Amino acid sequence: MKHVSHWIAGARTGGDGRAAEIFNPATGEVSGQVALATVEEVDAAVEAAARAFPDWRDASLAKRARVLFRFRELMDAHRDDLAALITSEHGKVHDDALGEVARGLEVVEFACGIPHLLKGGFSENVSTRVDSYSIRQPLGVVAGITPFNFPAMVPMWMYPVAIACGNTFILKPSEKDPSASLLMAELWAEAGLPDGVFNVVQGDKVAVDRLLEHPVVKAVSFVGSTPIARYVYETGTARGKRVQALGGAKNHMLVLPDADLDLVADSAVSAGFGSAGERCMAISVVLAVDPVGDELVEKIVSRVAGLTVGPGDDPASEMGPLVTEAHRDKVASYLDLGVEEGAKLVVDGRETPVRGGRGDGFWLGPTVLDHVPAGSRVHREEIFGPVLSVVRVASYEEGLEVINNGEYGNGTAIFTNDGGAARRFQNEVEVGMIGINVPIPVPMAFYSFGGWKSSLFGDTHVHGTEGVHFYTRGKVVTSRWLDPSHGGVNLGFPTNG
Ligand code: NAD
Repeated sequence: MKHVSHWIAGARTGGDGRAAEIFNPATGEVSGQVALATVEEVDAAVEAAARAFPDWRDASLAKRARVLFRFRELMDAHRDDLAALITSEHGKVHDDALGEVARGLEVVEFACGIPHLLKGGFSENVSTRVDSYSIRQPLGVVAGITPFNFPAMVPMWMYPVAIACGNTFILKPSEKDPSASLLMAELWAEAGLPDGVFNVVQGDKVAVDRLLEHPVVKAVSFVGSTPIARYVYETGTARGKRVQALGGAKNHMLVLPDADLDLVADSAVSAGFGSAGERCMAISVVLAVDPVGDELVEKIVSRVAGLTVGPGDDPASEMGPLVTEAHRDKVASYLDLGVEEGAKLVVDGRETPVRGGRGDGFWLGPTVLDHVPAGSRVHREEIFGPVLSVVRVASYEEGLEVINNGEYGNGTAIFTNDGGAARRFQNEVEVGMIGINVPIPVPMAFYSFGGWKSSLFGDTHVHGTEGVHFYTRGKVVTSRWLDPSHGGVNLGFPTNG
């Protein structure tokens, strides 16, 4: 039975006290225990990070980039190990786990360009023989608090950029699938990152609250559900910290009548059921503009019938189990609710066969609910599982209104062959990330990731140049080197002369 502890000052440490169980979602068995940090353990991580900061901040850009390059190579070499750890605790299939590692690595690759990214501006002669230049400096100790659904990728949205910028970092991963964090910590050490620059505290609310109140922690990046994102944002900013808190989602795919319905059906099934729907960019609602509904639902149902559900470490499986029993039960409860609210259950995932048998795994197969009433709970609420709702709408305008009336604004997609309609959509929709004939429009590492409305609290998205901005603060220097012509005392406000 494994015991997942913390990583503080370059070593596995602590965790003899409170603990939580880790499950293998495919079997329902307990596979280990994860430490739940005490306030003192969080304080030890903050102290280690604070001690490491002065030297790391002064490490040359070239040195920081070299460590990042080595980390990138090590992560690349350990893709399979990392993916296997993710599958064993999260449940997603191995290929999907490899995909999240690949997308996370892209952020490391972006951060390798830190010497270029931190270049400031310089203006000669802003006044006679006076120059101005801007510099961006690291904040100090920063923290990242991450969700269960991407145990490698979401932390990698944060720490490569934070560390490249010269900060020291404390990761508080999800307690549901914590092992990936320790492998990443070991690879950082092997890459030559000085002790204390990257730390991991395992834990729950106790650890989160301590990070939010600790005066030495200067900034917090959070990704998780909306109620906790709001709490983290409000609590952290009230204590003077910089906070970016990404929340939940309910992503719509708007299908116009001119769209290629085979492409739409492929995309809806891939984006709805990949990772068992446990993706913040999953498509959970298809808005079918009349008259495509019946034909589209038929195509979706025929594809769903061909999906193979089974353990994530079985190469034949396309979709794995859900993360916990409680989450599976919550997701499954929406099936009966949908019917009560007037929807038609056209595919019932409770009846889906599971390769190798169900055992006590946390299974729920792909589910399709048609004629879901707009504004019903099944339509509005984040379900975060393999449940695809089809809402019928009469027009583009009605579909747009349904999306814009929603609480969330993370991702969305339009499927059409009409460039004018697509351009209008990107302009009018109140959502942060938009796909045009692309179902999961996750921005590349050199752009920034983030939603609108209840999908993000704060004003900076993660990674890309916004990430660099979040983890640094600006200074502007105005300098004059004395020369024989300096003009004596002048009490007037400095103006350009
Ligand atoms: P969660 O909000 O339950 O947990 C996220 C983190 O917060 C974890 O580290 C957890 O330990 C901590 N936490 C949980 N309850 C807490 C509390 N009461 N006080 C303080 N900290 C607490 O989210 P989850 O279930 O792990 O992840 C799924 C959610 O994350 C979904 O809502 C999904 O949409 C969202 N998500 C959003 C994005 C995005 O980019 N917007 C990306 C991935 C996941």
